[in-house]
Amino acid sequence: MHHSKAVKLEKIEHIGIAVRDIEESNALFAKILGRSHYKMEEVESESVITSFFQVGEVKIELLQATSESSAIHKHIEKRGEGIHHIAYAVKDIAVELDRLKSEGIEAIHQQAKEGADGKMIAFLHPKSTNRVLTEICADKNE
Ligand code: ZN
Repeated sequence: MHHSKAVKLEKIEHIGIAVRDIEESNALFAKILGRSHYKMEEVESESVITSFFQVGEVKIELLQATSESSAIHKHIEKRGEGIHHIAYAVKDIAVELDRLKSEGIEAIHQQAKEGADGKMIAFLHPKSTNRVLTEICADKNE
């Protein structure tokens, strides 16, 4: 097995859903998905509490704002609850950001930052992605 960095988005890692009340939504999604969330985690830098459900290979990430400055708060004010972003797993965020930049895709984050669930993350700008807020993420220890 070789370890060259494949330059592409590998797979959908998770789908982020903005919710007003994460405890209520944990109960709701437990009913919908037929299983409980496996972890909750606060990401202070993003002013969110997250909750994760494993559904096959893909995770569902619920996000609740912890302050009015949170992007999740703004999203809910503007559009209500619902799908917030799609996250793709990549091998190397810096390499992918370079590739995407060369394709004319604008990133919100110019370098990887710490996200929830043991990931480094970066967001692409929705104006570059048909308004689909897109996250790329990689395991911290890779
Ligand atoms: Zn995410």
